[in-house]
Amino acid sequence: MKRLFILFALFILNNSLALAQNQPLRDKFVLVIHGGAGTILKSQMTPEKEKAFQDALNKALQLGNDILQKGGTALDAVEAAVRSMEDNPLFNAGKGAVFTNEGKNELDAAIMNGENLAAGSVAGVTTIKNPISAARAVMEKSPHVMMTGKGAEKFAREKGLEIVDPSYFYTEHRWKALQAAIAEDSTKMKLDHDDSTRQSALKQPENRDYKYGTVGAVALDRHGNLAAATSTGGMTNKKFGRVGDAPIIGAGTYANNQTVAVSGTGWGEYFIRLVMAKSISDMMEFGKMPLKKAADEMVMKRLPALGGDGGLIAVDKDGNIAMPFCTEGMYRGFIDNSGKKEVRIYKD
Ligand code: ASP
Repeated sequence: MKRLFILFALFILNNSLALAQNQPLRDKFVLVIHGGAGTILKSQMTPEKEKAFQDALNKALQLGNDILQKGGTALDAVEAAVRSMEDNPLFNAGKGAVFTNEGKNELDAAIMNGENLAAGSVAGVTTIKNPISAARAVMEKSPHVMMTGKGAEKFAREKGLEIVDPSYFYTEHRWKALQAAIAEDSTKMKLDHDDSTRQSALKQPENRDYKYGTVGAVALDRHGNLAAATSTGGMTNKKFGRVGDAPIIGAGTYANNQTVAVSGTGWGEYFIRLVMAKSISDMMEFGKMPLKKAADEMVMKRLPALGGDGGLIAVDKDGNIAMPFCTEGMYRGFIDNSGKKEVRIYKD
Protein backbone atom coordinates (compact mmCIF):
# COMPACT_ATOMS: atom_id res chain seq x y z
CA MET A 1 0.00 0.00 0.00
CA LYS A 2 2.83 2.37 1.01
CA ARG A 3 4.70 1.47 -2.16
CA LEU A 4 1.64 2.19 -4.25
CA PHE A 5 1.28 5.56 -2.61
CA ILE A 6 4.95 6.47 -3.33
CA LEU A 7 4.54 5.41 -6.97
CA PHE A 8 1.40 7.51 -7.26
CA ALA A 9 3.13 10.53 -5.67
CA LEU A 10 6.07 10.16 -8.07
CA PHE A 11 3.68 9.98 -11.01
CA ILE A 12 1.94 13.20 -9.93
CA LEU A 13 5.28 14.98 -9.32
CA ASN A 14 6.60 13.92 -12.71
CA ASN A 15 3.49 15.11 -14.49
CA SER A 16 3.44 18.48 -12.77
CA LEU A 17 7.13 19.00 -13.59
CA ALA A 18 6.48 18.21 -17.24
CA LEU A 19 3.55 20.57 -17.19
CA ALA A 20 5.67 23.33 -15.69
CA GLN A 21 8.33 22.83 -18.37
CA ASN A 22 5.86 22.75 -21.22
CA GLN A 23 3.84 25.69 -20.06
CA PRO A 24 2.90 27.74 -23.09
CA LEU A 25 4.86 30.95 -23.45
CA ARG A 26 2.92 34.09 -22.63
CA ASP A 27 2.72 36.88 -25.13
CA LYS A 28 3.70 39.60 -22.71
CA PHE A 29 7.33 40.59 -22.31
CA VAL A 30 8.99 43.90 -21.45
CA LEU A 31 12.54 45.18 -21.19
CA VAL A 32 13.42 48.55 -19.63
CA ILE A 33 16.95 49.96 -19.49
CA HIS A 34 18.78 53.00 -18.16
CA GLY A 35 22.18 54.50 -18.83
CA GLY A 36 22.29 56.76 -15.79
CA ALA A 37 20.53 59.83 -14.41
CA GLY A 38 22.01 63.24 -13.72
CA THR A 39 22.56 66.74 -15.02
CA ILE A 40 21.78 65.84 -18.60
CA LEU A 41 20.66 68.97 -20.41
CA LYS A 42 19.82 69.33 -24.08
CA SER A 43 21.72 72.63 -24.07
CA GLN A 44 24.92 70.75 -23.20
CA MET A 45 24.46 68.01 -25.78
CA THR A 46 25.70 67.89 -29.35
CA PRO A 47 23.58 66.13 -31.97
CA GLU A 48 26.41 63.60 -32.45
CA LYS A 49 26.59 62.79 -28.76
CA GLU A 50 22.83 62.53 -28.51
CA LYS A 51 22.78 60.11 -31.42
CA ALA A 52 25.59 58.04 -29.92
CA PHE A 53 23.60 57.62 -26.70
CA GLN A 54 20.41 56.81 -28.59
CA ASP A 55 22.22 54.22 -30.72
CA ALA A 56 23.77 52.61 -27.66
CA LEU A 57 20.43 52.42 -25.85
CA ASN A 58 18.71 51.06 -28.96
CA LYS A 59 21.39 48.40 -29.32
CA ALA A 60 21.00 47.26 -25.71
CA LEU A 61 17.20 47.15 -26.11
CA GLN A 62 17.45 45.15 -29.31
CA LEU A 63 19.82 42.58 -27.79
CA GLY A 64 17.51 42.00 -24.83
CA ASN A 65 14.42 42.02 -27.03
CA ASP A 66 15.79 39.28 -29.28
CA ILE A 67 16.29 37.06 -26.25
CA LEU A 68 12.85 37.75 -24.75
CA GLN A 69 10.99 37.36 -28.03
CA LYS A 70 12.39 33.84 -28.51
CA GLY A 71 11.20 32.87 -25.04
CA GLY A 72 14.60 33.41 -23.40
CA THR A 73 14.87 34.34 -19.76
CA ALA A 74 14.63 37.78 -18.19
CA LEU A 75 18.02 37.05 -16.60
CA ASP A 76 19.68 36.48 -19.97
CA ALA A 77 18.02 39.60 -21.38
CA VAL A 78 19.11 41.93 -18.57
CA GLU A 79 22.64 40.52 -18.58
CA ALA A 80 22.97 40.98 -22.35
CA ALA A 81 21.59 44.52 -22.27
CA VAL A 82 23.90 45.54 -19.42
CA ARG A 83 26.96 43.89 -20.99
CA SER A 84 26.48 45.86 -24.17
CA MET A 85 26.37 49.12 -22.20
CA GLU A 86 29.37 48.01 -20.10
CA ASP A 87 31.37 47.64 -23.31
CA ASN A 88 30.44 51.15 -24.43
CA PRO A 89 32.71 53.95 -23.10
CA LEU A 90 29.75 56.36 -23.08
CA PHE A 91 28.38 54.86 -19.87
CA ASN A 92 29.78 54.83 -16.36
CA ALA A 93 30.06 51.05 -16.21
CA GLY A 94 32.64 48.60 -17.53
CA LYS A 95 34.79 50.33 -20.15
CA GLY A 96 33.55 53.85 -19.36
CA ALA A 97 33.77 53.60 -15.57
CA VAL A 98 34.59 56.79 -13.64
CA PHE A 99 37.78 57.24 -11.62
CA THR A 100 38.16 57.08 -7.87
CA ASN A 101 39.96 59.83 -5.97
CA GLU A 102 43.12 57.71 -6.25
CA GLY A 103 42.81 57.58 -10.05
CA LYS A 104 41.59 53.98 -10.20
CA ASN A 105 38.45 52.37 -11.61
CA GLU A 106 36.56 50.28 -9.04
CA LEU A 107 33.44 48.66 -10.41
CA ASP A 108 30.26 47.39 -8.76
CA ALA A 109 27.46 45.24 -10.22
CA ALA A 110 24.49 43.11 -9.19
CA ILE A 111 21.89 40.83 -10.71
CA MET A 112 18.75 39.29 -9.23
CA ASN A 113 16.32 36.61 -10.32
CA GLY A 114 12.74 37.37 -9.28
CA GLU A 115 11.68 33.76 -9.71
CA ASN A 116 13.56 32.47 -6.66
CA LEU A 117 15.12 35.62 -5.14
CA ALA A 118 18.58 34.36 -6.10
CA ALA A 119 21.04 37.24 -6.29
CA GLY A 120 24.71 37.88 -6.95
CA SER A 121 26.94 40.93 -6.77
CA VAL A 122 30.53 42.11 -6.97
CA ALA A 123 32.00 45.30 -5.56
CA GLY A 124 35.25 47.19 -5.95
CA VAL A 125 36.59 45.07 -8.81
CA THR A 126 39.32 46.45 -11.04
CA THR A 127 40.11 43.75 -13.63
CA ILE A 128 36.82 42.11 -14.63
CA LYS A 129 35.78 43.26 -18.10
CA ASN A 130 32.07 42.64 -17.54
CA PRO A 131 31.23 42.89 -13.83
CA ILE A 132 27.57 41.99 -14.48
CA SER A 133 28.61 38.52 -15.66
CA ALA A 134 30.78 38.14 -12.57
CA ALA A 135 27.73 39.03 -10.45
CA ARG A 136 25.76 36.36 -12.27
CA ALA A 137 28.56 33.83 -11.66
CA VAL A 138 28.48 34.66 -7.93
CA MET A 139 24.72 34.02 -8.00
CA GLU A 140 24.86 30.78 -9.97
CA LYS A 141 28.25 29.27 -9.23
CA SER A 142 28.93 30.12 -5.59
CA PRO A 143 27.00 29.70 -2.35
CA HIS A 144 27.37 33.46 -1.75
CA VAL A 145 25.54 36.62 -2.72
CA MET A 146 28.29 39.24 -2.66
CA MET A 147 32.04 39.12 -3.31
CA THR A 148 34.42 42.06 -3.21
CA GLY A 149 37.80 43.18 -4.53
CA LYS A 150 40.59 40.67 -5.03
CA GLY A 151 38.44 37.71 -3.96
CA ALA A 152 35.77 38.51 -6.53
CA GLU A 153 38.47 38.87 -9.18
CA LYS A 154 40.02 35.52 -8.28
CA PHE A 155 36.59 33.93 -8.43
CA ALA A 156 35.81 35.49 -11.83
CA ARG A 157 39.12 34.25 -13.22
CA GLU A 158 38.46 30.74 -11.92
CA LYS A 159 35.06 30.78 -13.59
CA GLY A 160 36.61 31.69 -16.94
CA LEU A 161 35.37 35.28 -17.19
CA GLU A 162 37.35 37.77 -19.22
CA ILE A 163 40.04 39.52 -17.16
CA VAL A 164 41.66 42.75 -18.38
CA ASP A 165 44.49 44.97 -17.25
CA PRO A 166 43.12 47.86 -15.12
CA SER A 167 44.31 50.25 -17.86
CA TYR A 168 41.50 48.86 -20.08
CA PHE A 169 39.12 51.11 -18.10
CA TYR A 170 41.04 54.32 -18.80
CA THR A 171 39.09 56.84 -20.88
CA GLU A 172 40.19 60.41 -21.36
CA HIS A 173 36.81 61.99 -20.66
CA ARG A 174 36.51 60.22 -17.29
CA TRP A 175 40.08 61.19 -16.39
CA LYS A 176 39.29 64.82 -17.15
CA ALA A 177 36.09 64.56 -15.10
CA LEU A 178 38.15 63.38 -12.13
CA GLN A 179 40.58 66.28 -12.47
CA ALA A 180 37.64 68.70 -12.66
CA ALA A 181 35.99 67.10 -9.62
CA ILE A 182 39.21 67.30 -7.58
CA ALA A 183 39.68 70.94 -8.58
CA GLU A 184 36.09 71.78 -7.74
CA ASP A 185 36.28 70.10 -4.36
CA SER A 186 39.47 71.93 -3.42
CA THR A 187 37.95 75.28 -4.46
CA LYS A 188 34.92 74.46 -2.36
CA MET A 189 37.16 73.79 0.62
CA LYS A 190 39.02 77.07 0.15
CA LEU A 191 35.83 79.07 -0.26
CA ASP A 192 34.08 77.55 2.70
CA HIS A 193 34.99 79.78 5.59
CA ASP A 194 32.08 79.25 7.85
CA ASP A 195 31.85 75.92 9.52
CA SER A 196 28.43 74.80 8.36
CA THR A 197 29.22 75.14 4.66
CA ARG A 198 32.56 73.47 5.22
CA GLN A 199 30.73 70.54 6.77
CA SER A 200 28.36 70.28 3.83
CA ALA A 201 31.26 70.39 1.38
CA LEU A 202 32.94 67.61 3.31
CA LYS A 203 29.77 65.60 3.07
CA GLN A 204 29.89 65.75 -0.72
CA PRO A 205 33.34 64.43 -1.59
CA GLU A 206 32.07 62.41 -4.54
CA ASN A 207 30.92 65.54 -6.31
CA ARG A 208 27.27 65.37 -7.12
CA ASP A 209 27.45 67.60 -10.17
CA TYR A 210 29.13 65.04 -12.38
CA LYS A 211 26.31 63.16 -13.95
CA TYR A 212 25.80 59.61 -12.88
CA GLY A 213 26.06 57.08 -15.67
CA THR A 214 25.35 53.74 -14.13
CA VAL A 215 23.61 51.27 -16.42
CA GLY A 216 20.77 48.92 -15.62
CA ALA A 217 18.06 46.70 -17.04
CA VAL A 218 14.87 45.11 -15.78
CA ALA A 219 12.73 42.60 -17.64
CA LEU A 220 9.59 40.51 -17.54
CA ASP A 221 9.97 37.39 -19.69
CA ARG A 222 7.44 35.17 -21.44
CA HIS A 223 7.56 32.68 -18.55
CA GLY A 224 6.31 35.40 -16.22
CA ASN A 225 9.67 35.86 -14.49
CA LEU A 226 11.26 39.15 -13.50
CA ALA A 227 14.98 40.02 -13.32
CA ALA A 228 17.06 43.11 -12.57
CA ALA A 229 20.70 44.01 -13.28
CA THR A 230 22.81 47.09 -12.49
CA SER A 231 26.46 47.88 -13.23
CA THR A 232 28.52 50.97 -12.39
CA GLY A 233 31.87 52.58 -11.89
CA GLY A 234 30.30 54.38 -8.93
CA MET A 235 30.77 58.13 -8.47
CA THR A 236 33.62 60.26 -9.82
CA ASN A 237 36.21 61.03 -7.14
CA LYS A 238 34.81 58.44 -4.73
CA LYS A 239 37.12 57.48 -1.89
CA PHE A 240 39.03 54.19 -1.78
CA GLY A 241 36.84 51.25 -0.91
CA ARG A 242 33.57 53.15 -1.33
CA VAL A 243 30.71 50.88 -2.40
CA GLY A 244 27.54 52.33 -3.89
CA ASP A 245 23.97 51.13 -4.07
CA ALA A 246 24.22 49.15 -7.31
CA PRO A 247 25.65 45.95 -5.78
CA ILE A 248 23.56 46.19 -2.60
CA ILE A 249 20.56 43.92 -3.06
CA GLY A 250 17.43 45.87 -2.16
CA ALA A 251 19.09 49.28 -2.59
CA GLY A 252 20.06 49.72 -6.26
CA THR A 253 18.97 46.32 -7.51
CA TYR A 254 16.03 44.06 -6.66
CA ALA A 255 13.65 41.59 -8.33
CA ASN A 256 10.75 39.60 -6.97
CA ASN A 257 8.16 37.82 -9.13
CA GLN A 258 5.47 38.71 -6.60
CA THR A 259 6.00 42.42 -7.12
CA VAL A 260 8.61 44.19 -9.24
CA ALA A 261 12.13 44.36 -10.71
CA VAL A 262 14.07 47.59 -10.06
CA SER A 263 17.44 49.06 -11.10
CA GLY A 264 18.55 52.45 -9.80
CA THR A 265 20.95 55.22 -10.70
CA GLY A 266 21.88 58.28 -8.68
CA TRP A 267 23.56 59.24 -5.47
CA GLY A 268 24.17 55.76 -4.09
CA GLU A 269 24.52 56.67 -0.43
CA TYR A 270 20.89 57.85 -0.40
CA PHE A 271 19.63 54.81 -2.29
CA ILE A 272 21.28 52.60 0.32
CA ARG A 273 19.84 54.55 3.25
CA LEU A 274 16.35 54.46 1.73
CA VAL A 275 16.68 50.77 0.79
CA MET A 276 15.23 52.12 -2.41
CA ALA A 277 14.38 49.11 -4.57
CA LYS A 278 13.11 46.85 -1.80
CA SER A 279 11.00 49.67 -0.34
CA ILE A 280 9.15 49.95 -3.64
CA SER A 281 8.58 46.19 -3.63
CA ASP A 282 7.34 46.35 -0.03
CA MET A 283 4.98 49.22 -0.75
CA MET A 284 3.50 47.12 -3.54
CA GLU A 285 3.37 43.90 -1.54
CA PHE A 286 2.26 45.10 1.86
CA GLY A 287 0.72 48.46 1.00
CA LYS A 288 -0.95 47.19 -2.19
CA MET A 289 0.28 50.30 -4.02
CA PRO A 290 0.48 50.35 -7.79
CA LEU A 291 4.04 50.53 -9.16
CA LYS A 292 3.88 54.13 -10.33
CA LYS A 293 2.67 55.42 -7.00
CA ALA A 294 5.30 53.52 -5.02
CA ALA A 295 8.14 54.51 -7.37
CA ASP A 296 7.10 58.19 -7.41
CA GLU A 297 6.83 58.26 -3.63
CA MET A 298 10.40 57.01 -3.25
CA VAL A 299 12.12 58.83 -6.14
CA MET A 300 10.20 62.10 -6.36
CA LYS A 301 9.53 62.62 -2.64
CA ARG A 302 11.65 60.66 -0.19
CA LEU A 303 14.91 60.73 -2.17
CA PRO A 304 15.08 64.53 -2.62
CA ALA A 305 13.66 65.05 0.89
CA LEU A 306 16.72 63.31 2.29
CA GLY A 307 19.06 65.35 0.08
CA GLY A 308 19.78 62.78 -2.61
CA ASP A 309 18.89 62.56 -6.28
CA GLY A 310 18.68 60.07 -9.11
CA GLY A 311 16.18 57.83 -10.82
CA LEU A 312 15.27 54.24 -11.50
CA ILE A 313 13.60 51.88 -13.91
CA ALA A 314 11.07 49.25 -12.87
CA VAL A 315 8.74 46.67 -14.36
CA ASP A 316 6.09 44.91 -12.30
CA LYS A 317 4.76 41.38 -12.53
CA ASP A 318 2.00 42.50 -14.91
CA GLY A 319 4.36 44.32 -17.23
CA ASN A 320 3.63 47.88 -16.07
CA ILE A 321 6.70 50.05 -16.19
CA ALA A 322 7.96 53.16 -14.36
CA MET A 323 11.01 55.32 -15.07
CA PRO A 324 10.92 58.20 -12.53
CA PHE A 325 13.90 60.52 -11.90
CA CYS A 326 14.35 63.74 -9.96
CA THR A 327 17.45 64.86 -11.89
CA GLU A 328 17.53 66.88 -15.12
CA GLY A 329 17.56 63.78 -17.24
CA MET A 330 18.01 60.03 -17.38
CA TYR A 331 19.13 57.92 -20.33
CA ARG A 332 16.35 55.39 -20.59
CA GLY A 333 14.27 53.23 -22.88
CA PHE A 334 11.91 50.30 -23.13
CA ILE A 335 10.64 47.75 -25.60
CA ASP A 336 7.75 45.31 -25.33
CA ASN A 337 6.06 42.47 -27.17
CA SER A 338 3.78 44.82 -29.10
CA GLY A 339 6.91 46.19 -30.78
CA LYS A 340 6.58 49.48 -28.95
CA LYS A 341 10.04 50.94 -28.42
CA GLU A 342 11.08 54.24 -26.91
CA VAL A 343 14.40 55.83 -26.05
CA ARG A 344 14.53 59.09 -24.07
CA ILE A 345 17.12 61.30 -22.46
CA TYR A 346 15.59 64.48 -21.05
CA LYS A 347 12.57 65.45 -18.96
CA ASP A 348 9.41 65.43 -21.06
N1 ASP B 1 24.36 54.89 -8.11
C1 ASP B 1 25.75 54.89 -8.47
C2 ASP B 1 26.58 54.89 -7.24
O1 ASP B 1 26.27 55.62 -6.32
C3 ASP B 1 26.12 56.06 -9.33
C4 ASP B 1 25.31 56.20 -10.58
O2 ASP B 1 24.12 55.93 -10.59
O3 ASP B 1 25.87 56.59 -11.60
O4 ASP B 1 27.55 54.19 -7.20
